[in-house]
Amino acid sequence: AAKVDGKNRFRIFDEEMSRNQIRKLVLEKDMRKAMVHGEFTIMYQPKWDTGSDQLSGMEALMRWQHPELGSVSPSEFIAVAEETGMIIPMTRWMLQEVCKQNKYWQENDNIHTCISVNMSIRIFESQLLFEMVDEALRISGLPGHYLELEITESIAKSDVNDIIEQLRSIRDLAVKVSLDDFGTGYSSLGTLDELPVDTLKIDQIFIHKSAQLSKQAIISNIIAIAKNLNLEVVAEGVETQDQIDILQSRGCHVMQGFYYSKPMSAQDMTAWLEQKQQAVTV
Ligand code: C2E
Ligand code: MG
Ligand code: MG
Ligand code: MG
Repeated sequence: AAKVDGKNRFRIFDEEMSRNQIRKLVLEKDMRKAMVHGEFTIMYQPKWDTGSDQLSGMEALMRWQHPELGSVSPSEFIAVAEETGMIIPMTRWMLQEVCKQNKYWQENDNIHTCISVNMSIRIFESQLLFEMVDEALRISGLPGHYLELEITESIAKSDVNDIIEQLRSIRDLAVKVSLDDFGTGYSSLGTLDELPVDTLKIDQIFIHKSAQLSKQAIISNIIAIAKNLNLEVVAEGVETQDQIDILQSRGCHVMQGFYYSKPMSAQDMTAWLEQKQQAVTV
């Protein structure tokens, strides 16, 4: 085995660091042409209403298939896109594609559902939110209530009044808003009642550990907050029947997670819904 002295350890650390930096630089550089080359795609994940046993909505999630690096995860490339500002054209593209696809589903497959798109804090900072959403709705001809924006609690850490104002303006377009990853943002609950949102999404972490009684207590309380503020509640990351049972018994009936389906292409989603429909009518 190699004798690792202090000097060597620093060298290994340096190499690791520069490898990460090089990858980041590569991602930064390649992201610019990725959109033109059609390397970004959109996957759709269903939100299922267990009360009515019907589709409740979908979430649109971005994917990047890099020609050499293969699939790059959003948790990696979204952070880079936020740093470089590329998140703005990428989100503009997402909004337009999702609205177009939703309109297509309505006209061709009799699928009428609300689809959500994740919004980075950078979009609010750019002050382009209203313009981008309005543009996507106008181009597609999609009514606003079929579009939802997912924001995270951490957004409220910046200028809350400005965020509220921007959210109000898009709500005038009938667009819905949900608070994603709820319970992990450590935001004070103090301003929650002032945020114009429609839905709380319980973070996956609580669902994955919901066998623990302490996590069940948190879940129950998030559901209670939602009910008291007149908000809808959705559970994210649902993978097992046990988790569904726990959530239902505590009053949460809309589920999103691998138990139902992983995010899938629009085409696969159409087939998946077709199959569900047949299961109901048979
Ligand atoms: P998110 O908005 O909280 O999305 C949910 C993530 O959980 C997705 O990961 C989804 O694939 C994953 N997931 C869903 N069900 C399950 C489950 O049952 N088990 C487990 N283990 N995971 C599940 P994904 O697609 O990798 O996205 C990660 C994050 O990247 C998203 O978290 C969102 O914050 C961000 N993101 C993705 N697409 C976009 C986008 O177009 N714009 C922005 N700004 N952010 C995006
Ligand atoms: Mg989300
Ligand atoms: Mg989430
Ligand atoms: Mg998340």
